[in-house]
Amino acid sequence: MIKRLMQGGLALSLMLISLALWGQGRLDIQGVKEGLYMITGAGGNIGVRLTEEGVILIDDKFPQDFEEIQSLVASVSDLPVKYVINTHHHGDHSGSNASFLEFAEVVAHKNARDNIIRNNQDGAPRIVFVDETAVFLGGVEVQAHYMGTGHTNGDAVVYFPDLKTIHGGDLLHTTAPFIDYGNGGSSRGWVSTLNGMLTLDFDTAIPGHGPLMDRRDVVNFRNQMETIRQRMTDLIRDGLEPGGALDAIRDPTLSWTQAENGLFMTRSVTGLFVEIATEIE
Ligand SMILES: [Zn+2]
Repeated sequence: MIKRLMQGGLALSLMLISLALWGQGRLDIQGVKEGLYMITGAGGNIGVRLTEEGVILIDDKFPQDFEEIQSLVASVSDLPVKYVINTHHHGDHSGSNASFLEFAEVVAHKNARDNIIRNNQDGAPRIVFVDETAVFLGGVEVQAHYMGTGHTNGDAVVYFPDLKTIHGGDLLHTTAPFIDYGNGGSSRGWVSTLNGMLTLDFDTAIPGHGPLMDRRDVVNFRNQMETIRQRMTDLIRDGLEPGGALDAIRDPTLSWTQAENGLFMTRSVTGLFVEIATEIE
């Protein structure tokens, strides 16, 4: 009897564990504004803009997410995806490009396409832009602006003018940003790019990762980038050595430096030291 109970308990636990694991990999879709949705879950947030002639996606997560993205889009529209705009080349934002290219067009900044090819990723976009471009479909306009370097050298700021909403890709990150120096990223460029972003008339922003932001969050993000740059500048002027940067940059008022496992502390500080040291040489 006890043995049977234990076996039953074990089977139940295994079932719960596998349900939890199954649930972890799942994507989800949520409404942002009329005609605009966001697909969340592992990988970059996807913007889903519905029109009367088809769907425009902003980013497409990893290659293995293609089927699930398609079924989530089908849950809010009967029409197919016609365009994908990549915010940048990283594989968690452009991973399903190759699958979408079978029946849709993928648009990205010229440098993002170059990065996709240089990094041997699949699904290079067939259409690129330099300063700005727009997709017009079913009476809806979706703009893509290049406002300078930041997360990489090929970040698009996607703007939905009728909805006063932007998709900032990884130029916006809820926890802490990754300055991808290996692909042309720059903290200095990032401040100026965020100022460019703030010239657009928006009240809502989809970040590359994390929950929706409002305009105030974007201003705060810009401010933290400026403050962190200034802090690193002061520290280097006071004689900071590269090896001490990770410890020295920590400050309770700077949330990015408090996220120990965040992309700022784990992947950006060393490069930031070099960037700022070079600036003030
Ligand atoms: Zn990225």
